[in-house]
Amino acid sequence: MNYGKYKNARNASWQCLIDFNVSSLPVMVSKIAKASNIAIIKNSAVDLLKSDKSGITIFQNKKFYIIYNDAENSRRCRFTIAHELGHIFLGHLLINTPEYKIFAKREDNESEANVFARDLLAPACVLHELKAFTTRDIANLCNISLEAARYREQRMRDLETRNAWYLNPLETEVRKQFDDYINSKRADK
Ligand SMILES: [Zn+2]
Repeated sequence: MNYGKYKNARNASWQCLIDFNVSSLPVMVSKIAKASNIAIIKNSAVDLLKSDKSGITIFQNKKFYIIYNDAENSRRCRFTIAHELGHIFLGHLLINTPEYKIFAKREDNESEANVFARDLLAPACVLHELKAFTTRDIANLCNISLEAARYREQRMRDLETRNAWYLNPLETEVRKQFDDYINSKRADK
């Protein structure tokens, strides 16, 4: 699957939630990878990452392998895997190394992959419907780090001020898919 045609990483994240039938939080990134025949590998098993790196994707024999730094906490690992899925689904440029291909390091691609990861793990319309606006609520619902949730909180504040939801049919579709989940969460309150 290649969402490269969606110039916009946000739209690609919506399409991904729809295609993989994600209907509740936290989004299971490993399930999405499995369904896409992408292998997820702990770095402790292969020792391929430079020590300061969170993850890398390699492409070998027509298959993608996401290697993540499992020395980091699981919430961070989820973000790393979602970020790497972003590179793959957005069809970012692969370059050759002697043994395999990797994604070219480009700043715009890195920020696109981050937007994809953020929007995939913490879909704004779902947070909006659940009125989950605090860092802590967002972190717990989405199973992401406090650091990532803090960014999301700021973004949610902007989006709530703008108050322009469901202008894109993909977002409407995501909202529909999460309907049962949103209703059950609202009933819990
Ligand atoms: Zn990256």
